Amino acid sequence: MRMIDDVLRLSASDLMRFKGCRHATTLDLRLMEIGDLRPRRDGAEAELLQRQGDEHELAFLARLKAEGRIVVEIPKDGIPLEESVRLTHAAMAEGPDVIFQGALLEGAWGGYTDFLERVERPSALGAWSYEVADTKLKRKPDPKHVLQLCLYSDLLATVQGVAPEAAHLELGSGERFTVRLAEVSAYARYARRMMQEFLAARPETRPEPVSACTLCRWSEACAERWDRENSLSLVAGISRSQRQKLEAAGVVTMGALAVREQRVPKMAVETQRRLVTQARLQTARRAGSPPSFELRDAEPGKGFGILPAPDDGDIFYDIEGDPYYPGGLGYLHGLWYREAGEWVFRAFWAHTREEEGRAVADLLAFFVEHMSRHPSARIYHYANYEIAALRRLTAEHRTGEAAMDQLQRERRFVDLFKVVAGAMIA
Ligand code: SF4
Repeated sequence: MRMIDDVLRLSASDLMRFKGCRHATTLDLRLMEIGDLRPRRDGAEAELLQRQGDEHELAFLARLKAEGRIVVEIPKDGIPLEESVRLTHAAMAEGPDVIFQGALLEGAWGGYTDFLERVERPSALGAWSYEVADTKLKRKPDPKHVLQLCLYSDLLATVQGVAPEAAHLELGSGERFTVRLAEVSAYARYARRMMQEFLAARPETRPEPVSACTLCRWSEACAERWDRENSLSLVAGISRSQRQKLEAAGVVTMGALAVREQRVPKMAVETQRRLVTQARLQTARRAGSPPSFELRDAEPGKGFGILPAPDDGDIFYDIEGDPYYPGGLGYLHGLWYREAGEWVFRAFWAHTREEEGRAVADLLAFFVEHMSRHPSARIYHYANYEIAALRRLTAEHRTGEAAMDQLQRERRFVDLFKVVAGAMIA
């Protein structure tokens, strides 16, 4: 978001941020107009991701060139967007196979595409037109990537006089994801209109924890504000609708929730009790008390109620993944179990994609063999990541799927996070 000659200039990143959190857009505006807040500087992780993203883009560029495609590169650094746009229009008129870093601009919206790919579909340019292809490190497309593709495709349609039929993502997995624009463009235009209406009306916003917070450049500013206000957002495990019910009842801080005795309308008694306990424990902790916990009432099928009887063959299992390996790598499966009465640690390592498949095949073969010798044993893990990762790895490597089905059918896996979360408040 920038103001150039009194005209607001918006990019796909601004739209994606707006879709993730409106308060982020409010803070972006404040930075641009008043400048009394500073966003968080990129950490090492963000820089690493940026570098890997650039490498992924350059690898795709090298592949296109190696295939013999004619590629025109539009300069980007040190020149205004308008000049890059002019060069992009000129290149499109020439009709090369690929335009790298093509710039597009119309009204408030503009930005740089990764690639414009020539297709043999007539347009105002001639017997050809272009479609947008962006490189993304992720294995799977994200809805916000689709918003970005739609924006660039609409800008492209104005230049070439015909709307592209499709747009593409070159994913970190090496796969290409193609979007049929007719199916999604209306929604993307609606999202852009919503953002422009928001910018015109400037409604008041406030920080509300959302999934976008983890990577948001305003996370420090929002955390500071929650802390200063002793906000309900600090209460672990509280949902937005629970906060709304509490606020409607006049409970607007974590401290007030910690001492709330009166019933909160429309909130289940047990939910209120859990939230009050949570707020009380956290309030005490903020005042300097040591960490503590309280047991929840025992309920069949919940908390300790889901723990099976212990068995000599029980296994404790954890998996480690490296998200920065191209496409991600499940590099270690660690097991802790008893062998001839002694506790032993066993590891299944993988340093390459090929080894990843072998490790998961060996691991599942070990599980099946071990369980056949210990018919009542279980495999304990913490949170759902292990199961989700095993399902993904067995599908990707086409190995051990039957073994995984069998283990799940036999209810061998026990999620200790569910046990802890259902048994206590901490
Ligand atoms: S940290 Fe969260 S609440 Fe704050 S602006 Fe970013 S996404 Fe919004």
